[in-house]
Amino acid sequence: MEKIRNFCIIAHIDHGKSTLADRLLDFTGSVTEREKQDQLLDNMDLERERGITIKSHAIQMDYVHNGEKYVLNLIDTPGHVDFSYEVSRSIAACEGALLVVDAAQSIQAQTISNLYLALENDLEIIPVLNKVDLPSANPEEVTDDIVDLLGCSPEDVIPASAKTGLGIQDILTAIIERVPAPKGNPNESLQALVFDSVYNPFRGVETYFRVVNGEITKGQKIKFVATGKSYEADEIGTLKLTQVPKKKISTGDVGYLITGIKDAREVKVGDTITDSAHPTKNPIGGFEDVKPMVFAGIYPVDTEDFEDLRSSMEKLQLNDASLVFTPESSAALGFGFRCGFLGMLHMEIIQERLEREFDMTVITTVPNVSYHAYTTKGDEKPIIVNNPSDLPDPSTIDRVEEPYIKATIITKADFVGNVMSLCIEKRGQIVNQTYLTTERVELIFDMPLAEIVFDFYDRLKTVSKGYASFDYSPIGMRQSKLVRVDILLNAQPVDALSALVHFDNAYHIGKKMCEKLKELIPRQQFDIPIQAAIGSKIISRETIKALRKDVTAKCYGGDISRKRKLLEKQKKGKKRMRQVGNVEIPQQAFMAVLKLN
Ligand code: GDP
Ligand code: MG
Repeated sequence: MEKIRNFCIIAHIDHGKSTLADRLLDFTGSVTEREKQDQLLDNMDLERERGITIKSHAIQMDYVHNGEKYVLNLIDTPGHVDFSYEVSRSIAACEGALLVVDAAQSIQAQTISNLYLALENDLEIIPVLNKVDLPSANPEEVTDDIVDLLGCSPEDVIPASAKTGLGIQDILTAIIERVPAPKGNPNESLQALVFDSVYNPFRGVETYFRVVNGEITKGQKIKFVATGKSYEADEIGTLKLTQVPKKKISTGDVGYLITGIKDAREVKVGDTITDSAHPTKNPIGGFEDVKPMVFAGIYPVDTEDFEDLRSSMEKLQLNDASLVFTPESSAALGFGFRCGFLGMLHMEIIQERLEREFDMTVITTVPNVSYHAYTTKGDEKPIIVNNPSDLPDPSTIDRVEEPYIKATIITKADFVGNVMSLCIEKRGQIVNQTYLTTERVELIFDMPLAEIVFDFYDRLKTVSKGYASFDYSPIGMRQSKLVRVDILLNAQPVDALSALVHFDNAYHIGKKMCEKLKELIPRQQFDIPIQAAIGSKIISRETIKALRKDVTAKCYGGDISRKRKLLEKQKKGKKRMRQVGNVEIPQQAFMAVLKLN
C-alpha cells in the first residue's frame, strides 16, 4: 500500500492531458515501440477523431524511484461536461491530481471546475505548467496565475512540455513524493468504488474499481450495493496496456472485474462493490444515478425500419447505460423513440454510432430539457415533460419549472460586455464577477439549462473571439413562464417541430422558425404555407412558393446514363428527408429552432 500512488490528470480541454498521459507511459516503459500510437488512452474511434476523451480509463505503470518499486495508477477523466459525474467518481478514486495548465492559455473554466472537484475530495494537487516549449508561452505570468489560484509557492509548479518530454521526470518524482499513499484497512470487509465500466462484446461488462478497504479475490462472491445484485468475480486483474489477470487486488489498488454481466445498466458508476457474505455497513458515499439532461425523438427515416431501430437502440444501451429511451409516436413522424442523453455531445455520439455501427438512417427531432408542470388540481408530483407534446393544456397549468445551472465563464476583460449581453439574452442572471488578474475575469451566472445546451458555446466563442471558457453545473428547478410554439405546414400541425420556449421570446422565435423553415424546406409542386402558433393563435406566417422541379429536363433526351445518374443523385439527396403529409422535410429543419441566430 505504501508503494501505490493513485492519481488523475485534470485540465481544461486541449491543455495537454492526453499527450502528458502518453509521455508518462513512455517514460515508465509502459508501452513497447510497437504499441506506441498517439493518445493511447482514447480508445474509441470517435474519441480519436474528435480528439476528446469520452470515457474515462485507467492504466497502471511501474516506476522505480530511489531504488524502490512503485505502482502508479493513472485514472483518466473524461474531458466534457456531459460526463461530469464520471469525472467526479474518477477523482474520488485518487489521492492526487496533476493540474495541467497550458502556459499560453493559462487558467480556464474547466481548470477551475475540475480543481474544485479535486479539492472537495481532498486530493493533493500538483500543478504542471505545460507547453513551455511554445513560443507564445508566458511561463512567469501563468505561474503567477497558478500560485494565486492554489495558494502554493512558485517552486511547486512544474514546468513541462508533454511534447518534448521536458519535466516528465520531475512530474513522476512529484507524484511519488507529494501524493499520499492510499489509506485503508486490509482487514475490513471489501469496499471498492466503481469509477468506470466498459462494455466488451465478448467478455461482457468490465468494471473498473478502486479498492478502498479489504481486498477482492478471484472467484469471490461479490455484491453491488446500489443494485443489490450478487455475482462471482470470474476474473480480476490490473490494467496495463492490456489486462493482466491477478489472484487478488489489495487495499488501495486499482483493477478490473469481469463477472459475465451482459447489460451495462447493472454496473453503476459510483456504486460500491462488497463481499456478498459479509457486506460492508458503509457503502462509499457520493453515489448517484445519472439522469439524462437532454431529450429528443429519434425516428427511422423509413417507417419500416422501426423494429430495426429498436433492436439497435437496445444493443447500444447494453454498452451505454446512460442512454435511456421509450417508444413514442408522433402524428408527423410515426413510431420512434424519445431518448434521454447526458448532453448534446452524448446525443451526437449516439446518433453517430447508430449510423456507423448499426447502419441506421435516423431523423432526430429538436432536443429539449426536462420540464416539470404542475396543474391547477394542486397535485404534489409534477408532470414530467420530456417532449413538448406532453405539456398539459395551458388552461390547466398552474406553473412550469425548468432546470437551471450555474455557469462559470472565464474571459478577457475586453469581452466582459459581450459575454454579459449574450448571457442576459439567454435569460442569465449574473451572480458574481471576479477579476482573477487585471486581464482575466470570472463571471458566474444562473441560467436556464435549455439556453445553454444548444448553441450557447458557439455563440460564446464568437462574441469573445475564442477568449472565453465555460463550464456549468446543475442547481435545480426554477419556475419559468414557458409556452409551446407549434408549427403548421399546409395548415397541419407538425408535432415534431413544436418547441417549449420562454413566453417573452415566443413571438420572436415563432417568426424566426417560419423564416428558417422557408429556407430549409425545398420548394415543391405546390405552395406550402408555414405558420407558427401558440395554442390556437397564429403568431407568424410564411409561404414556400411552388416550383416545378424536373431534374431530367436539362438533359436533352439522348444520354440515358447521365439521366440515371441524376436521378440517383436526387434519390440520395432525399435520404435524410421525411415525408410529412405531402411535404418533404429535411433533417436540418427539425433542428431549425436551434439555429435561429
Ligand atoms: P487534452 O484535450 O487536454 O487531452 O489535450 P491534448 O493532449 O489532446 O493536446 C492538445 C494539443 O496540444 C495537441 O495538438 C497536442 O499535440 C498539443 N500539446 C500537448 N502538449 C503540448 C506541449 O507540451 N507542447 C506543445 N507545443 N503542444 C502540446
Ligand atoms: Mg484528451
